[in-house]
Amino acid sequence: MLSYGRQTVEEDDIRAVISALKSDRLTQGRRVRLFEELLCEYTGAKYCVVCSSGTSALYLAYRASGLKENGSIITTPVTFLSTVTAAIHLGGLPVFCDIDPETYNMDTTLLEKAVEGCRNPHAIVPMHFGGLPCNMEKTREVADREGLFVIEDGCHALGSRWHDEAGRWHRTGDCAFSDMAVFSFHPVKTITTCEGGAITTNDKTLYTRLLHLREHGITRNENSFVGSMDGPWHYELVEPSFNFRISDVHCALGINQLKKIERFIDRRQQIAALYRTLLSDHHFIKTSCERADVLNAYHLYPVRIEFERIGVSKKVWFREMEERGIRLQVHYIPIHLQPYMQWRYGFRRGDFPESERFYREEVSLPIYPLLTDDEVKMVAQELVATLSTHMAA
Ligand SMILES: *Cc1c(COP(=O)(O)O)cnc(C)c1O
Repeated sequence: MLSYGRQTVEEDDIRAVISALKSDRLTQGRRVRLFEELLCEYTGAKYCVVCSSGTSALYLAYRASGLKENGSIITTPVTFLSTVTAAIHLGGLPVFCDIDPETYNMDTTLLEKAVEGCRNPHAIVPMHFGGLPCNMEKTREVADREGLFVIEDGCHALGSRWHDEAGRWHRTGDCAFSDMAVFSFHPVKTITTCEGGAITTNDKTLYTRLLHLREHGITRNENSFVGSMDGPWHYELVEPSFNFRISDVHCALGINQLKKIERFIDRRQQIAALYRTLLSDHHFIKTSCERADVLNAYHLYPVRIEFERIGVSKKVWFREMEERGIRLQVHYIPIHLQPYMQWRYGFRRGDFPESERFYREEVSLPIYPLLTDDEVKMVAQELVATLSTHMAA
C-alpha cells in the first residue's frame, strides 16, 4: 500500500544510531548540541534548540514568547491541531484567518482584519502549507503595526526557500521576518529523528528562555542565578516547566539525515514536477501551486478535485483508491470545524469558507524520496481513471 509520506532511513543512518547507542551518553551529550549547530548552519539562524517533538517545540516557542491566559494567536484553520493546542495549554485563544485559495496559506490581505478583530493579540503564526512559504514580509509588517510576535510553524518547510522584494533569498527558519520558527522531525517530514522538533531564533533572550523551558525550567548558567551559588553542582529553578529534551540517539539520526536533505528535497521536487506533467491536462484536477520566487521543499503534494462537479463523494472515491493500493490523506480538517473548538470557542461552519472549500476538495498524493517514477505514474493513472468513470456516468 502506498501512503502519502514515509521516512528514508538508510544503512549509514542505522550505523550512526548504533554508534550513539554505544557511546557514554545516551542523552544530554554532544550530539544534541552538534545537531543544533548544524541546523543553525542550514537555516541561517543564530540559535537553535532541539526538543522532543514539533508539538513541544510549538509549546516552547509560545511560552518563551510570553503567551499567557487570553492572549490570542492568529493562524490558519488549515494546519495540524498542535499549532493551536500548544497555545491552548498556556491559556491562549485561537483566532483564525482564512486561506488564500491559490497558495493554501493564510491570506495576508485578510490578516489585518483578523488581528484587529481579536482581543489581546499576541502572535501571528504562519504555517507554510505543504512547504510553500507564506508571505513573510507582509506578515511581519502587520505584526509590527500591532507589536506582535511572528512564530512560524515551519513543520512542512524545512529546506524551503524564497526571495524577498529586494531579491534576497531566504530559507525557512532563518527568522529574517519572524521571532522564531518551529520544525518537526516526525518520519513523514523532510528529515526525521523518529520523534523530534526544533526552534530556531536570532534572539538571545528567547534562546536562553527556550533552553531552560526545555529542561524543567532549570538553569545551570551561573550568570542567571538569582540566589547564591552553593557550589559547582548548583542549579536554580526559574519557572516550573517540563522535560522536553530529545536524546543523543535521536540526534545521531537527525545529524546524519541532515547531510542528505538536499538529495531528499531534489527527489521531492522531481516527483512534484512529474505529477504536474501527468495531471495538468485534466481540468478537474488542480495541481499544487508553483511560484517563481519560491523553492518548495514539498512536504506534501496537495491537489484539489471538484468532487461535487464530477458527481462522486470524496469518501467513496477514497475507498476506490485504497482498493487500488493507494492510501491518500487529507490535510487537514479545518480546526474550527472540530466539535471541541466549536463548543469551547464558538466557531461555526461557514466561518472560513475558503478553508472549508479546500477541505472538500483537497487530497495529498504520495510524495517521499523513495517513491519511484513508476509509482508516481501509477498514482496519476489511477487518479484519472477512477475519476473518469464517475464523470462518464
Ligand atoms: C507535524 C506537524 C506538527 C507537529 O509535529 P510533531 O513532531 O508530530 O509533534 C505541527 N504542525 C504541523 C503543521 C505539522 O505538520
